[in-house]
Amino acid sequence: NEERYFQCKLTRFGQNDRLLVAYDVTRLHNLELMRKDFVDNVSHELRTPLTVLSGYLETYMDQDDLNPRWRRGFEQMRQQTTRMTNIVKDLLLLSRLENSSAQTERKVIDMPYLLNKIFDDAQAYNAEFKHELNLEIESFRSILGAEQELTSAFTNLITNAIKYTPKGGIIRVRWFDDGDDCCFSVTDNGIGIESHHINRLTERFYRVDSDRSRDTGGTGLGLAIVKHVMLQHEGRLEISSKREQGSTFLCRFPKERLVE
Ligand code: ADP
Repeated sequence: NEERYFQCKLTRFGQNDRLLVAYDVTRLHNLELMRKDFVDNVSHELRTPLTVLSGYLETYMDQDDLNPRWRRGFEQMRQQTTRMTNIVKDLLLLSRLENSSAQTERKVIDMPYLLNKIFDDAQAYNAEFKHELNLEIESFRSILGAEQELTSAFTNLITNAIKYTPKGGIIRVRWFDDGDDCCFSVTDNGIGIESHHINRLTERFYRVDSDRSRDTGGTGLGLAIVKHVMLQHEGRLEISSKREQGSTFLCRFPKERLVE
């Protein structure tokens, strides 16, 4: 009585003939479910120990008479604990996105308002990089969607543009109409990405330059999250980039998700 899953391929031959091949992918499907469950459980289980570790580290670092060698050690531990906490948070968000069906929350989100809020936070993050950040709101259409998830996706794209652009760069954030669709885009004039990496960027933990990305403090899950948030909103992520010239990440929302 086990449910079975098939992947089908239909090939046409000449005018009238068709060949339908069905592959039984039940085992793959079940393994994928097991993987998701496993990652979800591990992430949940790691949350409490990480909170306890952070608590103790904060308490020890508060002592005024702490030996400088110990302070440096604790500081390293705190950085790594924060990194792990962020990875666990992102893994949990990804697993929530993967498990929720396509029918997600449909609240009307005032995009100009939300983007201004996200942009203000980005300005704070940009303080040490000192890029020129521009926000251009050219459409007043709103989205039917999930605010928290959209905030994560848009924030990831803006912070990536900031991280992967050498000091003094120019970053352009836009919300604009494109035919029936509406698009959110982030363009930078940063390090750019070679074309053969582009298709793989939304895989979990895929990085063009691992050392450099890790130094910037990312989790390696940002673009996977953006991809899933867009799927959840029946939209898609489009990436264009040129090495040493810069990149554009564009989130396209279909008209079914827009409100005039
Ligand atoms: P990370 O936490 O490493 O930034 P992401 O999933 O957000 O993880 O991004 C995956 C990889 O894509 C990054 O490690 C980086 O190599 C590349 N990348 C993302 N955004 C940009 C950008 N704006 N310019 C250049 N490379 C980028």
